[in-house]
Amino acid sequence: MPALKIAHKTIKGNDEEDADTPVASSDHRKRFCVFITTKEDCMRLQTAAIHTGVDKDSAFNSVITPIYQTSTFRFDSVGQTKGYDYSRTANPTRKALEQNLTALEGGAGSSAVATGMAAITVALHLFRTGDHIICTHDCYGGTERLLRTYQELFGLAVTYVDMTDLGAVEASVRPETKALWIETPSNPLLNIVDIRALCAIAKKQSALAIVDNTFLSPYNQRPFELGADLIVHSTTKYLNGHSDVVGGAIIAKTQELAERLQYLTNALGQGASPFDCWLVLRGIKTLVPRMKEHEHNAAIVAKFLSEHPNVQRVYYPGLKNHPHHELARRQQYGFGGMVSFEVKGGIREANHVLGSTKVFTLAESLGGIESLIEHPASMSHASMKPDLREKAGINERVIRLSVGIEDSQDLVDDLDQALKSVLPSKHTATKIAVGA
Ligand code: PLP
Repeated sequence: MPALKIAHKTIKGNDEEDADTPVASSDHRKRFCVFITTKEDCMRLQTAAIHTGVDKDSAFNSVITPIYQTSTFRFDSVGQTKGYDYSRTANPTRKALEQNLTALEGGAGSSAVATGMAAITVALHLFRTGDHIICTHDCYGGTERLLRTYQELFGLAVTYVDMTDLGAVEASVRPETKALWIETPSNPLLNIVDIRALCAIAKKQSALAIVDNTFLSPYNQRPFELGADLIVHSTTKYLNGHSDVVGGAIIAKTQELAERLQYLTNALGQGASPFDCWLVLRGIKTLVPRMKEHEHNAAIVAKFLSEHPNVQRVYYPGLKNHPHHELARRQQYGFGGMVSFEVKGGIREANHVLGSTKVFTLAESLGGIESLIEHPASMSHASMKPDLREKAGINERVIRLSVGIEDSQDLVDDLDQALKSVLPSKHTATKIAVGA
């Protein structure tokens, strides 16, 4: 498989935008161009998602990348391989996915790993005892749990900060600060933080700016354009998009970082299996049409919820009354498919809605084609320390939706019937499992 050298260039597009369109999104496909220098070929995101990293199978000319389901590779002679010796170190199917992810995010290299948490694990091994990381205070619960573990086991220092407050971030910087851990939009309240400004703070300190881009995917947000050094993904979510695999990836801006990540992925044994890589590669081929549909449906659902009498508050960056709507328009290429809201009342009312939907499935995770509903306080964020959860504003009334690509009317009807039946005297609380 030839090594692709990938550069990026911006193509000027149509400047006319309507007020609700993110600044960058109306001409997204025209602007963004993956430029594969070895082929002298210029591909836009949608084309690159389908074609990049696809191995032209020399044995049988298969159009789709084969699954190299092997742990080991035959040497031609001592010291002579065809580029692969052992699948923990590297595997052609994994390499194809890594090339694809590198192209879509515009990096220099990447590692495809077993889960999103594996990606975070590998990234955290860039640091050592005494190093200090500033982390967004409303990060994914599993990220907080792992950082807490590394604090306890290895003496990593971590400060949680509301990153919407740039002054507070600057005030938290110490001489030993080695990274800013940025997650935007945040999970589950969909706060948006200013990636460019945060990267500038990191640069001043020669610290790494690491962005978890899981919630928007490279279709809707491009952290390297804003100064990030590393991008982390749970490919379990939008990149794969079909809720049938867990996976993760770390993409590096520089070759040096990419090589270090490959080293760590092998040393820690975190690489994704060939079959999982193949599934994610297949999912990515439809990333663009799926993301468009997710966003279309999410906008309809958010509007419906914001007008519903039994809804207290809606969190969706595409709504004009979202506190970071303007930043989202400026920074993102789209608002994404996640919507959170608070039901009027308390935990009992929230539990009722969570137990009443028929199209929305009560389940953790997000980014799949089917719509999911979940309760962050007892599910996705149950692992987070309660005081941090409270501080981040994740109260028990918050419900998170991963809006799928079903017919939007069915989604609205489903939420309507669940919300309409919220009558305090007529129901009992639904028991919710505590997971992940
Ligand atoms: N990052 C974010 C933003 C997430 O939402 C998740 C999981 O929900 C992860 C990372 C971890 O990913 P995984 O579950 O694939 O390990």
